[in-house]
Amino acid sequence: MTAHPRAPSPTTFRAATAPPKEMEASVQRVIRATKDHSKFFEDAIPLIASENLLSPYGKELLISDLHSRYAEGLPGERYYEGNQWVDEIENECLSLARRLFRCNFADVRPISGTVANLAVLKAMTEPGSTIGSCRLADGAHISSASFGAFGLRGVKPVHYAFDTARMQLDVDATKKILLQERPKVCLFGLSLFLFPFPLGELQETLKEIGALGWYDGAHVLGLIGGGQFQDPLHEGCSVLSASTHKTLPGPQHGILLGQTEDADLVKKLQSAAFPGVTSNHHLNAMAALSVALAEHLAFGEEYARQTVANARALGQALSDRGFDVLCSDQGFTRSHTLAVRVEREGGGEPCSKLLVEAGIVTNKNLLPGDKSPKHPQGVRLGTPEVTRLGMKEREMERIAELFDLLLHRGKSAAEVREAARELKREFRTLQYCFGAGEPAYKYYDLVSRSS
Ligand SMILES: *Cc1c(COP(=O)(O)O)cnc(C)c1O
Repeated sequence: MTAHPRAPSPTTFRAATAPPKEMEASVQRVIRATKDHSKFFEDAIPLIASENLLSPYGKELLISDLHSRYAEGLPGERYYEGNQWVDEIENECLSLARRLFRCNFADVRPISGTVANLAVLKAMTEPGSTIGSCRLADGAHISSASFGAFGLRGVKPVHYAFDTARMQLDVDATKKILLQERPKVCLFGLSLFLFPFPLGELQETLKEIGALGWYDGAHVLGLIGGGQFQDPLHEGCSVLSASTHKTLPGPQHGILLGQTEDADLVKKLQSAAFPGVTSNHHLNAMAALSVALAEHLAFGEEYARQTVANARALGQALSDRGFDVLCSDQGFTRSHTLAVRVEREGGGEPCSKLLVEAGIVTNKNLLPGDKSPKHPQGVRLGTPEVTRLGMKEREMERIAELFDLLLHRGKSAAEVREAARELKREFRTLQYCFGAGEPAYKYYDLVSRSS
């Protein structure tokens, strides 16, 4: 049989080629943009609650040869050769993780917080299962949405009752919902995470309905590790999933932690991590994570304490200047995060845009009670990165002053940006890590350029 006349024969495909000079110019544009990006952040006041800075040793390991390698399976049971040292690194990483979180199970193969959540969903639920969770409008992460990981697994959320005045679960109403709906898994986690969950108060109810507690600590992992928030694995949750780059100042990666005697659950979590939701697990990031865990064991308590102290101080300083910071009657926050209602200042999007023009990086955020999801009335602020750079309560006053000048006193973005740069000048090196004092926003030139 002859081929269809219009079907291209394999030999008609020719590789696209372009002159090397043109392509090198393309590479240089990307490098230029990356350097400009780094320069912008070097001069800026970074207040994104989910962002942090990697330590010098962590960065060194990220660009090591580990980046080029594969390892599947667990230490000692690999599918590739040449993994002898990878095994050593992974064993070290696992033992540091278990030590930091005082638990008996860790898996460091999920490559992000969302991937860790997918692994838990695969291990602990079936399509069609009901699962207790918070609403997106109350601050839950997109992985709890039907258009996110929940939807991928096909689980049906049972939403808790949330007291928006306290930005906290309404315990009595939530108990009633749980007793009625009896989900087999209850997820506790938020992306606008101001206060610890009342896990102790719900523990009896979880037991009564036979539900497993699952804590998504993506935002607060470093605060938990530093002993400054709550201890979910010892307050009734069997599993903790998280990102490792928010309040834990590690590489972009994920982690699963557990405190359980249930060998079957452990097996399910491990096989969900691999081969369920990953093949290779980004060995360079795993090595950098080991550093972050070791540094958190050494410096994390102090770092986490200062991060929370800074958030509360920033809340107070903004409130003193007339900003509507949520939960003023509760000290604004017990975490690294603040929620500020900027309705009077023009709304979440106009404010966050003006702020970034002035070199202050935040994000617009929906607040409970917002009338339209398209017009969030909040901005979310976080102190992990400014704390990492050595800022303390005194600097929170200065940051609040910049907000006031820009959003209340009509100073131009250009003027405030100059003041922000001035403030940042003394805070551009990494703290709370080995090699403290190294530049935080350095670009590593590895290619020697002849020109
Ligand atoms: C950030 C976040 C995640 C996952 O984040 P990744 O970007 O995938 O690491 C999961 N859950 C919550 C609550 C988060 O805030």
